Amino acid sequence: MSFFTASYAIEQNPISVLITDINGVIEYANPKFSEVSGYLLEEIRGKNPYFLQTNTLSAEEYQRMSQLVINGGVWQGELCSRRKNGDFFWESTHISAIRNPYGAISHFVWLREDISDRKRAEERIRFLAYYDNLTHLPNRLMLQERLREAIEISRMHSCLLAVIFLDLDQFKRINDSLGHRAGDLLLQQVANRLQECLRFSDQVYIARPDTPLPQDLLARLGGDEFVIVLTEFNHTDAVTRVARRVLDVMAKPFVVNNKEVFTSCSIGIALYPYDGDDMEVLLKHADTALYHAKDRGRNNYQMFSPSMNVAATQRLVLESHLRKALQNQEMTLYYQPQVVLDSGRVTGVEALLRWNSPELGMVSPADFIPIAEETGLIVSIGEWVLRTACTQARAWQTMEGLSDLRMAVNLSPRQFSDPHFLKRIATALQETGLQPELLELEITESQLMQEGLLECLQSLKELGVTLSIDDFGTGYSNLRYLQRFPLDRLKIDKSFVKDIDCKSNHDTIAATVIAMARSLRLSVIAEGVETKCQLAGLRALDCDEIQGHYCSHPQPPEKILGILKSHFKFD
Ligand code: C2E
Ligand code: MG
Ligand code: MG
Repeated sequence: MSFFTASYAIEQNPISVLITDINGVIEYANPKFSEVSGYLLEEIRGKNPYFLQTNTLSAEEYQRMSQLVINGGVWQGELCSRRKNGDFFWESTHISAIRNPYGAISHFVWLREDISDRKRAEERIRFLAYYDNLTHLPNRLMLQERLREAIEISRMHSCLLAVIFLDLDQFKRINDSLGHRAGDLLLQQVANRLQECLRFSDQVYIARPDTPLPQDLLARLGGDEFVIVLTEFNHTDAVTRVARRVLDVMAKPFVVNNKEVFTSCSIGIALYPYDGDDMEVLLKHADTALYHAKDRGRNNYQMFSPSMNVAATQRLVLESHLRKALQNQEMTLYYQPQVVLDSGRVTGVEALLRWNSPELGMVSPADFIPIAEETGLIVSIGEWVLRTACTQARAWQTMEGLSDLRMAVNLSPRQFSDPHFLKRIATALQETGLQPELLELEITESQLMQEGLLECLQSLKELGVTLSIDDFGTGYSNLRYLQRFPLDRLKIDKSFVKDIDCKSNHDTIAATVIAMARSLRLSVIAEGVETKCQLAGLRALDCDEIQGHYCSHPQPPEKILGILKSHFKFD
């Protein structure tokens, strides 16, 4: 074979070939190299090939690579290079020495093969493994890897690090009422807004060799849970500032399918090194702080404190006791009268659940209903409430002559998704013998948005029961929306009753709600009426009925009976 054949082989090789002198100065590049890199030989002759590289390798690694090659070894690896037009691309690279006939090194040769296609495929696989498909944010796996590294770096630099756990408030409600597709769209928008809250907003989607570590990280853990990791700060102010910014941006309405959707989020924060020095502990403590934020009425942030662990344990204790509360007969119903403002006549009662736990004492429904909801226990508890209330109403009818007393029962969102729900109501009515129109079902305003609820309420109406909207005014329904539902009554939430005083109340929310009810031809009852002034104010606004401590606290059946038989005298 001639010398020329060898040189044609290099010239026409489908692999890029670069030859440098002993000092690493480029002397030759074959046409394939120019094709791939965009540089002509004339442009690069005399330069060092390192200028083509991005910092895929650290300075020490470059040093080691040079040593190896100078000593006659072959370096082999993958390098990220930059084309003349600035694009990044990956090359599989071999570097080795060329010796002259006397055995001395005279040149180095770089063989480089463009492996961008393979890298792209690998990146795609990496993307699927490390990123969340819906929001394109890093997923749990990526979070774990990055967080572990970030903790190490914070340890080395003696810096603080924060794990910020956040969860949308009542996302399930939005998902149930607007549908999963809308829920997904909302999560995408949430992800975008959260990203804007980070100091480095140019989050890495595909980890590129030129992205510095450490950096703030935003990840989605699944569902409506997100985690932010803040690194390299020295004062907790930096964290609370981010937390406050997150609450702010989430408070602005989102637009999903041309509808305004309001949400908020709760935030729990754990700090390295104060609240833990490894990943698992920090995540767990941030989660505990998050629970605490939810307990504090949502839409706030909480920094972890050791006493919170106690609260988290208490919640678990509550749940385990709740599981056996029904069969141990620890639940009872109290009843609170509903009174006509004009005549003082008691027309109905609301059944309110009470749990007297031998271990925990009296537990408020506000504390255990949410847990019953989350665990699904509400379905059996709800069924028990319904039957007990209907049986009680029927007993008062037959034994005490209270023949037209209405019995109001609260329903939870979860009960509507029970496929046997209608059947359960019909059977309870049938078996207890209570007339359907005397059973009033209370549904909260926010439940109205639940998918399929309209049909469900229509079927309930066909059964003949009375339907009322509880806590009215706290949701976002407008008149046109409400019109579609076969409702009988609105119950004005007690927070609006609080605003009523002895003076003119015509510009209060209560006044607006009453006017709204009038135009829908619904009757109105005000909840939480405590004072004479409120009563007078409601009367001036022409409210139909009232319920609240002013008339009676909720009481067990034997104590309430006397009140049910009497008339109130309001003067
Ligand atoms: P709700 O249905 O709006 O019930 C009214 C709440 O206001 C009751 O609280 C009642 O005791 C309280 N209340 C009555 N009058 C006054 C007053 O004058 N001032 C003030 N400040 N409060 C008054 P409770 O019994 O603690 O129940 C809280 C919530 O728990 C209920 O709100 C309801 O949403 C839920 N709940 C209660 N029983 C059941 C049940 O059997 N099933 C379901 N799903 N939820 C229930
Ligand atoms: Mg109620
Ligand atoms: Mg209410």
